[in-house]
Amino acid sequence: MSELPFRIGHGYDLHRLTDGRKLILGGVEVPHEQGLLGHSDADCLTHALADAIFGALGLPDIGHYFPDDHPENEGLESVQILAKAVEECESAGYSVGNADLTILAQRPKMAPHIESIKNSLSKTLKIAPSQIGIKATTNEVLGPIGREEAIASFAVCLLIRKQV
Ligand SMILES: [Zn+2]
Repeated sequence: MSELPFRIGHGYDLHRLTDGRKLILGGVEVPHEQGLLGHSDADCLTHALADAIFGALGLPDIGHYFPDDHPENEGLESVQILAKAVEECESAGYSVGNADLTILAQRPKMAPHIESIKNSLSKTLKIAPSQIGIKATTNEVLGPIGREEAIASFAVCLLIRKQV
């Protein structure tokens, strides 16, 4: 891998909302009457962030590392997916600089959960919570997100080459 001083990556993910599932975002269970549907815990925030890291490294997306047709990935905690991305980052000679995340959800209100999500992600990323930005926005009641059929997330992440 070329020894760029910085590498930047972007990730996007969306999962459908459904009854009978827990809502997990950034590794935190957010109280809500519905949860996200997926083979894993369907944590779209963590998936977008992991894809941003894989993308920054020029690697394939999370579906390559954790295929959704493999039974061993059933109910997988997405924090493990993020940990794999961090492992790839470190073995390529980089550490995570900062990450900026946006959650698109009509409901529930995310503000009460932002700090605990930052704390959760910071542990897996091995950085301080202050190196993570998390914004949440509704979709102004428009489209599938506005109709509460889905929650989506965007992530941008900067990787910094470790001093050797
Ligand atoms: Zn996903």
